[in-house]
Amino acid sequence: MKYKKIIVTGGSGMVGKSLQKILPEAIYLSSSDYDLRDKDEIIKMLNTYRPDIIIHLAARVGGIVDNITHPVEYFNDNLLMNTLLLKYSYEFGVERIISMLSACIFPDVVNSYPMKEDVIHEGPPTPTNFSYAYAKRCLLVQSDTYNKKCNTKYQCLIPCNLYGEYDKYGDNSHFVAALLKKIIIAKNNGEKEINLLGTGIAMRQFMYSDDLAWVIKYCMDNDVYENLNVATEELLTIKEMTDIILEICNASDFKVNWDSKYPDGQLRRDLKIDRLRELAPDFKITPFREGVKKTYDLIKNNLI
Ligand code: NAP
Repeated sequence: MKYKKIIVTGGSGMVGKSLQKILPEAIYLSSSDYDLRDKDEIIKMLNTYRPDIIIHLAARVGGIVDNITHPVEYFNDNLLMNTLLLKYSYEFGVERIISMLSACIFPDVVNSYPMKEDVIHEGPPTPTNFSYAYAKRCLLVQSDTYNKKCNTKYQCLIPCNLYGEYDKYGDNSHFVAALLKKIIIAKNNGEKEINLLGTGIAMRQFMYSDDLAWVIKYCMDNDVYENLNVATEELLTIKEMTDIILEICNASDFKVNWDSKYPDGQLRRDLKIDRLRELAPDFKITPFREGVKKTYDLIKNNLI
């Protein structure tokens, strides 16, 4: 094997659990093992494992409402974790790190869609997750700076929105998980109506979390070091996705009440994946309908 000691931060999260299925030999860590906002904990972790590669998934991650409610925590937690992890990993001689950014770091509006990797710094991110986005932009700048100055291979992948069976189904969930949960609960209560925030017009790419895990492992195994967009090619409105998800849950007869008092967030956020396709020609994308069906079948009996 190319790497003797692989550690995965954020190993207990959705992407970490997807990665465990295809990379069982790595060490998966969570915040209860080491709080990465604390430099002493990071040093303890590096001393214990002496990794030669780190897959850095740990982040404070959440939905639009939580981002608006807790911008200080989104900025500080992510900035601290990333900055300290890269700084001390370099000091411990870690030459390879694969970190996750997010599609929301792109400018709120660009001249041409889908967005290529090179337009990230061409404008401010969307106001609804400005703090999270800027903390992630700093991770990109920090990684590139180390690479230029110190010859490291610190790579950033930029995933679109994700979903999957290991998503959070509590209060601070993302769109697909939150919607599946609402529908399942409504069905169990004999209701035929759900309330959703916003108008449904925003356009998004949503990718099955196992697909991102495949790309992470591919980059690691095949010496792909570039910063890359990782996304599906399906661009759907929130309303279109809602209709598909209702159909999968056998709830197409439900009435949906859209609450336009809430923001839609960025109106269009699709990533171009031509470069990923060139470097990873075998990359297979799970179609949205198929991934949601798989997710629904796995979670439907465990939510209540
Ligand atoms: P997740 O399910 O929310 O998991 C977050 C992980 O980070 C958990 O393992 C958590 O540990 C860990 N963590 C949080 N705070 C920490 C701290 N202070 N110290 C150490 N570990 C900490 O996230 P995910 O959805 O798997 O996302 C993985 C990566 O992909 C993140 O970097 C995220 O920004 C990026 N991403 C996610 C999406 C998405 O839609 N989910 C989209 C684009 C990019 P505990 O379990 O102990 O809390």
